[in-house]
Order: sequence, then C-alpha cells, then structure tokens
Amino acid sequence: MWPEVIEAMNYARKGPINMGELNNAAGKRIASLIGCEAAMVSGGACSSMTLGTAACITGKNRDFILRIPELSGMKDEVIIQKSHRYPYDHAVRACGVRLIEVETVKDLERAVNKKTAMMHFSYFHDRKGLIKLKEFAALGKKHHIPTLIDGSLSIPPWERLSEFLNFGFDLAAFSGGKALKGPYSAGLLLGRKDLIEAALLNNAPHMNTIGRGMKVSKEEILGMMVGVEVSLKYDYSLGIKRQRKLMKLITDKLESIPIPGVKTEIVFPLNEPEWPKIRVYWDKSVIRLSSAEATKQLREGEPGVELMGGGFDRRTDSEFIISVTSKRYPLYMTVTVKYH
Ligand SMILES: *Cc1c(COP(=O)(O)O)cnc(C)c1O
Repeated sequence: MWPEVIEAMNYARKGPINMGELNNAAGKRIASLIGCEAAMVSGGACSSMTLGTAACITGKNRDFILRIPELSGMKDEVIIQKSHRYPYDHAVRACGVRLIEVETVKDLERAVNKKTAMMHFSYFHDRKGLIKLKEFAALGKKHHIPTLIDGSLSIPPWERLSEFLNFGFDLAAFSGGKALKGPYSAGLLLGRKDLIEAALLNNAPHMNTIGRGMKVSKEEILGMMVGVEVSLKYDYSLGIKRQRKLMKLITDKLESIPIPGVKTEIVFPLNEPEWPKIRVYWDKSVIRLSSAEATKQLREGEPGVELMGGGFDRRTDSEFIISVTSKRYPLYMTVTVKYH
C-alpha cells in the first residue's frame, strides 16, 4: 500500500462514523477524481462484480434485494462470451443468475430477452472474444441491457478507470489491492448513479443482503479513496522504467552464468507492454530438470525465490516465468494461486 494509504487508515481508526455517510462521501470524492458519474468502495473487484450484478437484477426493489439469490419472477440471466468464462465469473453467478454463453453478435442478439439482467465483459479476455470491448458496450446500449466490465488488469494507465464507462459500459469493476495500491481487500465499482445506488443497497451495512458478508471497514474505505488519489498523481512510467532496469539486471546475470542451454527472453503474456515477465528456458536434453522441479528448488532454496504461479501460458516443461516487481512500485502481487 502507498504510505499515504496507511496514514489514512490510521486516521480513520481514531473515531466512530456513520458508515452510510462515509461510503457516500468517499464514493463522491472517488467519482470526481476519476471523472465518472458515481463510485463506491467494495470488498475487491469480485465483490464489485457481485454487487454490480445484484444492482442490475434488483434495482432499488427491497423485496428483490432480500430474495437474492432466489430469483423466481426476476431477471435471472447474464450474457457472457464463451471465451470470457473465467474463475472470477463465480462472483456473478453468486447472485443466482444463469450465465448465457454466446460467441457471435448474432448469438448475443438472439440471447437477449426479458430475463436478461446484465451483460458481463472481462477486459483480460478481450483478445480472445469475437465481440470486442466497444462493440459489446454498444450492443448493451442498443438492447437496453446494462453492461459490466471487469477492468482489474487494465490499469495502469489510470485513464482506463473512466475510459470503459466513456465507451458506454454502465459499470466497471476494479481491484483496489493491485496497481492502485489501496487496501488488499478493497476495490471499486464505478459507473451509472442509479446502479451504484442499487449496489449500495445490496451491500453492508444493510442487513439481509448478498453484500452483508462483503463489508469494508471505515479504515479500508478511506484508505481506498486515498489510494486512488495518490495513484492518479503517480507517473507510473517511472515504475515501469525501474521494472525494466531490474529485468535487464536479472537477464544479464542469468545469461552470464556459463550453463549451456539456458536462455532468457522477455515475454508480454497479455499483449500489454505494462506487464512484461522474464521467461527462463533450457534444453532438457542438457539439463534434466522439469519446470515443477526447478520451481520447487527455488522455493526451498536460501533465500526462497517464489516464481510467477499458475495460469500462465507455459510452452514447455523446461521453463519458468519470473515476475519482477520493484519495492517502490510493485506492479504485480507476489501472491500466486493455482486453480487445478
Ligand atoms: C484480481 C482479479 C480479480 C479479483 O480482484 P479482487 O480485488 O481480488 O477481488 C478479478 N478479475 C481479474 C481479471 C483479476 O485479475
């Protein structure tokens, strides 16, 4: 977290406050900083997605809010591109909706009906889907279906915080604990005022809501707000420059070790210049070591070295990926999760 975030959290610790008022005030300030209609602090991007979906289903209908995830008589379908299915869509499904998978524009237009509550898009999967970001938002507008984009891995650049909404998305979800360097368990939901208000009604501190278990402390709410303030002022290209320098240091060192068959390259796994990684690979007929064994040895070494975890497009069984972060600007979390 930015030092300023810790300071803000320490300040928030000192007094009692009306949580509803704090939520509204922090949301207003964040919206004005980012330049969007409305904003709220959530318990992370996943929580933003759950609350955004809930808002699209219930609006401000108190009865509907109480009944989630039991949706009989309510809109209970969310349209998603097949290629955009990912582990995080559980956050959408948690509301009780069925995900309707589509591939083409034709599929999508056929899928739209009275039961459609929302259309979900993942920025991370834009490369894979047939329907691209702007077209997807436009289709939502055309059919009067609210659209939500998971923008978690799109920042920096900070302009993206408002860009998707300007393209026509109604809601955008972001993680607070990644590049924004806010509290790890906070996030943002940005977008249309009526939907943000409905999302707030589906959230803690309101009782008997899907968001009751996603409460965010006053310290985190203020910390998240300050995280946005500080990030927007930060020239992230400095962080990237420093990261590149560290990467060059590592690749130079590795290549200077006289082991035949070991090579390094810089890879851009997301086709994004912001997220380079180092790929180290070797000739298995020379070095009889698997990726898993190399990873294990490095982890158990002294000092332990934790490599970029699962979910990566490994091409061989004789390589590993190094994710480089700098202390001053950790572009990526050092926590890794394996799914299977
Ligand atoms: C990290 C991430 C999330 C979840 O964010 P949290 O803030 O941890 O809830 C969702 N989508 C994508 C693409 C992510 O990378």
